Amino acid sequence: MAGIKMHHCYHVGCHELLPFEVKYCRKHTINKIRTPEDSKRDKFYNQYKRDKEANSFYQ
Ligand SMILES: [Zn+2]
Repeated sequence: MAGIKMHHCYHVGCHELLPFEVKYCRKHTINKIRTPEDSKRDKFYNQYKRDKEANSFYQ
């Protein structure tokens, strides 16, 4: 353990122990980083919403 600094996750109220260079535990890192899946979902949602509005315009 010598030389390895440990600290708690920076997320308030989270007491996950992490190596010094890691700021957030895995659980809270996932909340902060957008995955390619997130962008895909947003793109799909925008497309769906636009189509719906376009359809109602032509009715
Ligand atoms: Zn955490």
